[in-house]
Amino acid sequence: MAPMFVPGPVDVDVEVLNAQSRAMLPHRSEEFETIYRRASEKAKQLFQTEAPILIATCSGTGLQEAAIRNLAKQSVLSCVNGAFSQRWFEVARSNGKQAELLEVEWGQPITPQKIAKALQGKNFEMVTLVHNETSTGVLNPIEQIAALVHQVSPDTIICIDAVSSLGGIPIKMDAWGLDMVLTSSQKCLALPPGLALAAVSDRALNYAKEVPDRGWYFDLIRMETHRNKDSTPATPAMSLIFALDLQLDRILKEGLENRFSRHKAMAELVQSWVKAKGFQILAEEGYRSLTVTTVSNSLNLDIAALNAFLLAKDMRIAEGYGKLKNHSFRIAHMGETQLADIQELLSALDEFIAQK
Ligand SMILES: *Cc1c(COP(=O)(O)O)cnc(C)c1O
Repeated sequence: MAPMFVPGPVDVDVEVLNAQSRAMLPHRSEEFETIYRRASEKAKQLFQTEAPILIATCSGTGLQEAAIRNLAKQSVLSCVNGAFSQRWFEVARSNGKQAELLEVEWGQPITPQKIAKALQGKNFEMVTLVHNETSTGVLNPIEQIAALVHQVSPDTIICIDAVSSLGGIPIKMDAWGLDMVLTSSQKCLALPPGLALAAVSDRALNYAKEVPDRGWYFDLIRMETHRNKDSTPATPAMSLIFALDLQLDRILKEGLENRFSRHKAMAELVQSWVKAKGFQILAEEGYRSLTVTTVSNSLNLDIAALNAFLLAKDMRIAEGYGKLKNHSFRIAHMGETQLADIQELLSALDEFIAQK
């Protein structure tokens, strides 16, 4: 398998890929409902929650839209420090919500202090935050932020995009008091793209009942009503759910703590290499992601040439995302990637730099 060091879609184990080739079943059958229920139950451990897990046929952005349509009638505070949090803000505005922007420089974290200021004298129905900004490699301190929001604005619903963290970096939905946590299949969960998972708190679901025009496909109340019967409102991507069922077994067999440690070890290896080579890490120290490192291209490497060089060795890294495209590159260390894969990548990068 050629290792891909790009932050999604990531490599999928062949056993998991093959699980998709299982024969179809009627989706409204006891047999399929058992599989759906099993996967949904297992996924709770990843979210560290007792709340039910919704499995939706869409990518993560679909559930960003679901959060916006269901959990605010009007007012949203969008915390933005990169491309994916910016997208969530645009999702809010394009759904007609009055989204206010709390924007900090890319590479900087959203901090409780900044949120406290934004919340002052305001009464936002919901706040949106990205746990791990995949564009900048910044890990936002969600636990501290959630504590602050609970303290100063207790009715505000806290929604977290954990697309590039859930399954790689600890996130404790219940202990931190988060209302909605969403993720995509193709990042830390190491599945093919096409599914999104979310946990929604009771208070958020209760609030959603009062929100008009929630739409149909992404109506959380409709999704939850069906989930109670171990099903989905429309035909789900069944093959992906077969793969999810197996991949969750594999993840739990590795053990969440082991999985988190593996991600941390990979991040440390990449980040010490970056520093040793004289590059800058974009993310501020203390807020660096454990699943993806965004490297400021201070040595002016030709990224296209670098990727061609890596591709000849069956490896890939990612360009910078959005406005960082020509100024940075990204090394993902998430999913099924192992320390030995990272070592192989770093040797190849050394070789490329040496011949420059
Ligand atoms: C990849 C990513 C998204 C977009 O997810 P899709 O599954 O492509 O819709 C959103 N947020 C973050 C943090 C991401 O890394």
